[in-house]
Amino acid sequence: MDIQYWNREVETLDREGLARLQLKGLKETVDRALQTEFYKRRLQKTGIRSADDIRSLDDLKKIPYTTKNDLREAYPRGLLSVDTDRVVRLHTSSGTTGTPTVIYHTTEDLANWTELCARGIVATGSSNRDVFQNMMGYGLFTGGLGLHYGAETVGMLVIPSSSGNTARQLRLMKDFQTTVVHVTPSYMLHIQSRIEPEGYKREDLNLKKAYLGAEAYSESTRRKIEELMGIDAYNSYGMSEMNGPGVAFECVFKDSMHIWEDSYIVEMYDAARQRELGEDEEGELVLTTLRRTATPLLRYRSGDLTVLNGAPCRCGRTHRRIARIKGRTDDMLIINGVNVYPSQIESILMKIPEVGTNYQICIEKDGSLDRLTVKTEIYSKMFTGDVQVLEELKRRIREQMKAAILINPAVELHEPGGLPVYEGKAKRVFDTRPKD
Ligand code: AMP
Ligand code: ZN
Repeated sequence: MDIQYWNREVETLDREGLARLQLKGLKETVDRALQTEFYKRRLQKTGIRSADDIRSLDDLKKIPYTTKNDLREAYPRGLLSVDTDRVVRLHTSSGTTGTPTVIYHTTEDLANWTELCARGIVATGSSNRDVFQNMMGYGLFTGGLGLHYGAETVGMLVIPSSSGNTARQLRLMKDFQTTVVHVTPSYMLHIQSRIEPEGYKREDLNLKKAYLGAEAYSESTRRKIEELMGIDAYNSYGMSEMNGPGVAFECVFKDSMHIWEDSYIVEMYDAARQRELGEDEEGELVLTTLRRTATPLLRYRSGDLTVLNGAPCRCGRTHRRIARIKGRTDDMLIINGVNVYPSQIESILMKIPEVGTNYQICIEKDGSLDRLTVKTEIYSKMFTGDVQVLEELKRRIREQMKAAILINPAVELHEPGGLPVYEGKAKRVFDTRPKD
């Protein structure tokens, strides 16, 4: 296979070279962090007064973790490390669950972010010959703008369609023969389900690849999308605190995501046991920025669960890989004492061929017990009027759930289009149990 790189030198740099870059980046980051009100206070107790106190990468361990809550408390300027006249953009989180968080960018920050996105795009085999339709929201959400500049830098023809308006998305895809889309997996499934109802055939489209990210999804969902659309789907990971998309991307081998270690120091943490983890152990991803100037973050706890993989990749990139994100630490559901992640339920559903492209997980209190209801769309050909067929399908879904997650849910079947559609990140879990 012909392997392409955007920045071959850095992407294939040996581990010693990467460690040298990391140490240099860490020293610079600590110096910048000390310019912020937040870290000036936070680092006081550690004895770190300047970059000179960082002599090896191990010195990072002296620094406490930074959490999302710290970012909220530092809102709006507590983590800004440069004069405002050097800042050219900011992104905030949606703030739907409380005080938002803010990340500032200088021109250099945007250039670095763009480079990381370009690396990811090229790693999937895309090039300036591709037509790139970016269906992620443009605006404060980083999904749109982030990859937009990466794609332009690679020289792709970029269609900034943003999220929503499915009929227009399909029309753009057909008229401009889009080859690559960037989209949430849930919206990709919805787009697929609308091809025929909107009057198109799959052959009208020239789609070859999808970059799927912004929400947790299972390998079965990737497979389903690949099979239904006849494309290659690549996992793309990022979060606004670390810029946005472009933090980690799958290469052509589609086997976990290379995380750019010249720009981030990767650590793993087991929050329940409060201990650090090594490679191959599942835990929370912790990242330190190395190249960011306006908002440096040290040991930021992402809340995302994954496994770090140090095995060499056939593509020749030396940056380690992270496994598909299982979910967020705060996504875990405890249903009648059983721990389950929504992605596990999704994974079972998407392997069942009759199951359509949309589903919901509902949990409510029923007396002293928790009751799980899985609502799922199924393909219209299943609605033949034969109740027995539907009952048999429900039974099969229940059995597979019981075998995999030890919970026997109620199952509701819906016609295609019967459940609400989300154009950005999908809301799948509806937990109405009283919080105590
Ligand atoms: P935001 O800061 O709004 O862009 O959200 C970032 C969060 O989206 C991450 O912390 C993850 O929880 C989630 N996310 C982004 N990309 C992926 C992905 N490829 N797989 C699973 N979750 C993802
Ligand atoms: Zn690779």
